Amino acid sequence: MGKPIKTCENKECEAEITKYKSDKRKYCSDSCKHRANFLKSKIKNRHHNEWLKTYKEQLLLLRIILKRGRNRIRLTTLEDLNFDLGLLQAPSSITSPAYRIGEYIIQKDKQDDNFCTIKNVIITKNS
Ligand SMILES: [Zn+2]
Repeated sequence: MGKPIKTCENKECEAEITKYKSDKRKYCSDSCKHRANFLKSKIKNRHHNEWLKTYKEQLLLLRIILKRGRNRIRLTTLEDLNFDLGLLQAPSSITSPAYRIGEYIIQKDKQDDNFCTIKNVIITKNS
């Protein structure tokens, strides 16, 4: 009984593999094997890359807000700017929620929880 014909699992190739020693063989060649693994890791990392892109955009946003001399800002304004608090490091305390993103801490205003304060936690060397 002959072995069934397999097709190379590299989606860019899909060549028929007519001769193989092991049933575990998935690719027609080593280069197809590497290519397929590369494509797989690219798909796997895509979500992470998107997350990183958004994260960097949000850091930039905070930098712009602070540059304009504003450090107290309405939460809805942040939301309007597409800011996603869900991306941030979870608050360490429920009574005084402070979110950390990069060098910034976003803390909800104690008097008015419609507002939050943005603080840069890195002390500038010049001061
Ligand atoms: Zn192949």
